[in-house]
Amino acid sequence: MESILKGKTVVVTGAGRGIGQAIASLCAQKGANIAVPFVGPYPTEAIEEFRGYGVKAEAYECDVADFAVTKTVCDKILEDFGTVDSLVNNAGITADKLILSMGESDFDKVIAVNLKGAFNMIKHLTRNFMRNGGAIVNISSVVGLMGNAGQANYSASKAGLIGLTKTVARELASRNVTCNAVAPGFIDTAMTAALTPAQQDAIKKQIPLGYIGKPDDVARAVVFFLENRYVSGEVIKVDGGMYI
Ligand code: NDP
Repeated sequence: MESILKGKTVVVTGAGRGIGQAIASLCAQKGANIAVPFVGPYPTEAIEEFRGYGVKAEAYECDVADFAVTKTVCDKILEDFGTVDSLVNNAGITADKLILSMGESDFDKVIAVNLKGAFNMIKHLTRNFMRNGGAIVNISSVVGLMGNAGQANYSASKAGLIGLTKTVARELASRNVTCNAVAPGFIDTAMTAALTPAQQDAIKKQIPLGYIGKPDDVARAVVFFLENRYVSGEVIKVDGGMYI
């Protein structure tokens, strides 16, 4: 069966690697054109991979935390692609410390990228979505639901994303716009590769399924939301049963 994503345009922030790349790749395999706001080096390999599925794929240098820059980039994406049908707010960072040693800038920068970044992208694409309908997915985290020592900034940003998701779902439903969140547990990417083997073993003990998830596990949940037009304001955990 052909996916409703075929021929549509999906914006995935931070899709140059990790979970974002897996999400954009699955969308491209289903025939969606892909736009990628990125901050680091130009994501050549990821863009070539997406184009390999026969779709249009472009990357745009864009710090999602910057309100003015995101406006310019969203306008440019709309000009280049004609419209945007779906937005996946995936870009995220960590700056883990216990509250006692967490500085103001550690807190501010994580909130700015993870939470305000999602607001910025939604804000600048909302007029387009109100005209044409659309699907928004925010990548939260199970720690936004359960908290985690050493991640006051990160867990607050991810909990904030769930509030943002539910509000956007309510505000834009009458315009045929859905907004949902995916809350991954531990997923095998650069973000978790920094953990020592001992830390990874300790984490696996908290996961009933007994292993760390893959970016594709998250991508499949995101695509469920992008393809299903009758689900909104929902949060799916993709965590191996870690938070039941
Ligand atoms: P990575 O660190 O592998 O990738 C993060 C991506 O975000 C990169 O592509 C990075 O771009 C991009 N990014 C970071 N800051 C900005 C910014 N200011 N503007 C635009 N893009 C930015 O992380 P993951 O793939 O592991 O995580 C993806 C999402 O999933 C994040 O929101 C994360 O919080 C969430 N998540 C991850 C979990 C995990 O276990 N891995 C668990 C729960 C949630 P660049 O490559 O250019 O640096």
